[in-house]
Amino acid sequence: MAWQGIEGHDAIVRRFIAAHERGRIAGSYLFVGPPGVGKGSFALALAKSLTCQAPQPGLVACGACGSCVQADAGSHPDIDLVRKPDDKATLPLELFIGDDEHRMREGLCWRILLRPALGGRKVAVIMDADHFSEESANCLLKTLEEPPDAAVIILVGTSPERQLPTIRSRCQVIRFTPLPAEVVRSVIERESQAAATSVDSATLDACGRHAGGSLTRARLLLDPDVTAFRTRLLELLARRPLPGVELARDTTAFVEAAGKEAPPRRARMRIVIDEVLDVFRGAIRGAPEAGDAPQRNAVAAWAADPDAASSAIDATLAAAADIDRFLNVNVVIDAWTAVLEEPRLARSG
Ligand SMILES: [Zn+2]
Repeated sequence: MAWQGIEGHDAIVRRFIAAHERGRIAGSYLFVGPPGVGKGSFALALAKSLTCQAPQPGLVACGACGSCVQADAGSHPDIDLVRKPDDKATLPLELFIGDDEHRMREGLCWRILLRPALGGRKVAVIMDADHFSEESANCLLKTLEEPPDAAVIILVGTSPERQLPTIRSRCQVIRFTPLPAEVVRSVIERESQAAATSVDSATLDACGRHAGGSLTRARLLLDPDVTAFRTRLLELLARRPLPGVELARDTTAFVEAAGKEAPPRRARMRIVIDEVLDVFRGAIRGAPEAGDAPQRNAVAAWAADPDAASSAIDATLAAAADIDRFLNVNVVIDAWTAVLEEPRLARSG
């Protein structure tokens, strides 16, 4: 079953349909789950359904009314979408209450108080909810405490632990899980057909299996350079002693090959981080069945020393947080690979 093009989250779809039928759509939701599984797409599809002027059974937007047309064009006056700018570490305060000259005369918290332009609901979708600054969160808090009638605010983050407790406690938490490999494969196949690019069946299979349930990761794996580096990375991780210098050098080269811009570089670093986390976690709790030979070899090497795998997870999560905070990618890679090479140093330190 695909609900408005959303695959793999049927239980959540049923939950919203049931809530809608009972008139119990909440004022605020917090969507959490791994990156790339479709939380943002789900939020926008839900926003379109909730504002549709001729909704179909099953909380499906008609796709033809004035509201749906504007939702599809991204110009709906009652659907408010905000996200963290690429060059900012946190969601800027201005997004919520306007800049200095327009305090509380602009921004999401102001707009949501306005009467719906099309007479239905107002829906606000806040992407990157992991990246609230304290002051932005405090501004939103007032809106979450006294939400306007029929308004729905959807926050899209990754884990409840990354949200400020004050925000988390005011939202209904909806948990998204990684997509099954076959769903990833079929979505990627459909996307490549729509883009008129031919992707062979073996590549689609590999994308589905190695993406860890993330469409974002699967899309990156369509790039042969990324797939080649993945294999190289797993080979290095399987070697003992761990070749830390080579690992740092090759990872840096891979990340820099994405170009001079920071966002594609961070996307490549993200895929490195996801890949190695799969290895370390697999070493501790058993490898995923879908793993290929390079992955199984790397997992086996780390499974021999669970303490080292555990330290490596901590170091990798710290590196991921540093990347999010815009620390220099090369510096992060050097520090991170040094810990992987000698995990006990990190433990004692
Ligand atoms: Zn409609």
